[in-house]
Amino acid sequence: MSIKNFQILHEKNILEICWSDDHISRFHAKWIRFHCKCVRCKPSVTFDYKIDIPSFSPDLAYDEVKITDEGRKLHVIFEKELFQNHVTEHDADWLRQKCYCDACLECKVNERDVISKHLRSGREKVPPEVDFEEILEDSDRGTFKWLKHVIEEGMCLLKNVPREEKTIKEVASKIATLEETSFGSVWNVMDTGVDNGSYFPIALPLHQDQPTYETAPGLLLLHAFRFDSVVTGGNSTMVDMFEAVEIMRKESPEDFQTFVEVPATWCQVEYNPTSIEPVYLEHQKPHITLDYFGKVVGCVWQPGTQSTLQVHERDVERYYKAHNKMMEIIRRKELQYKFKLSAGDMIIFNNRRMVHARDAYKSNGGVRHLRGTYLRLDHVKSKYLVLGRKLGYDVIPPKVGNNSSM
Ligand SMILES: [Zn+2]
Ligand SMILES: [Zn+2]
Repeated sequence: MSIKNFQILHEKNILEICWSDDHISRFHAKWIRFHCKCVRCKPSVTFDYKIDIPSFSPDLAYDEVKITDEGRKLHVIFEKELFQNHVTEHDADWLRQKCYCDACLECKVNERDVISKHLRSGREKVPPEVDFEEILEDSDRGTFKWLKHVIEEGMCLLKNVPREEKTIKEVASKIATLEETSFGSVWNVMDTGVDNGSYFPIALPLHQDQPTYETAPGLLLLHAFRFDSVVTGGNSTMVDMFEAVEIMRKESPEDFQTFVEVPATWCQVEYNPTSIEPVYLEHQKPHITLDYFGKVVGCVWQPGTQSTLQVHERDVERYYKAHNKMMEIIRRKELQYKFKLSAGDMIIFNNRRMVHARDAYKSNGGVRHLRGTYLRLDHVKSKYLVLGRKLGYDVIPPKVGNNSSM
């Protein structure tokens, strides 16, 4: 893209650029100056702080603007410039890419919002599948394939995974270092009869794991190490919270607003546990996080570890009203993915997006033993982009539900 013409506006602090496709961008003097790409200003290594913004005049203004290379390069000299004989330089392509007009910002945010694009509203709810064979044949391509399903649809079911203890660690390590929580780095879900609901054969309601942390675990990998055929029940259910929340926003905007404003508290306090280290974990946050652009970028739902509501008197009634509305939405059959894990399956899903549940089960003399681990969403997103680029795919940084759309 090239620059057709420009003009300097206001108190000489806005540069309005007209592009060859007639798009108009406006850049503030400070923005252009502080993002200068010349050798004197551009950091050469991380933390190299060459431009000390407070040292500059607050009245920095455009003095001379020059376009060269047939509209592909911008050179600017500023009034009240701090550096001697300094010319700020920018490539036109970069400037256009970083245009912050309303239309460009909306376009960037929407492009990254793969969650909204892939909500399965009204569509058949079945987890996408990848055969483990594909990872064995081509580790990078196979890994990218399931990763893409997880990024876009929130989950993927890996089939025919070897039933070896080390496998879950091997699959997860292809993405990043395992995320350790109060349950350790790899944990077992089986009927051991101690401490935690997951370890009894009872039903677990729809929930996300460990909102007791400031940053709840990102990706959850669950390997059906044993799921004997004599075991009855234990079926899995999942619901996409981002779908549920958008339904709430549409059907009951006031409840949606309550969930954005009024925080719930989650707590795990175990001073004398038998299977984990003693812990005191507590975190208060709203169920829904919106970003600067009003998009939903975070959802929290875990009635099982929710502790005492500690909010102003005026918010108590409206909190419970919103809570009931959300419960009613996520219990709708048309929102639920229903499936049963088989021995050798590995279900991988975004814990910050999908709520999961399990029916009660009966062992009947058999064993249901799942092995689980977590990965941070930051690492998952990073691996998706790095691996995609390595494989030559056109990947854009996706919204993943970690409270940020960019
Ligand atoms: Zn410079
Ligand atoms: Zn623009």
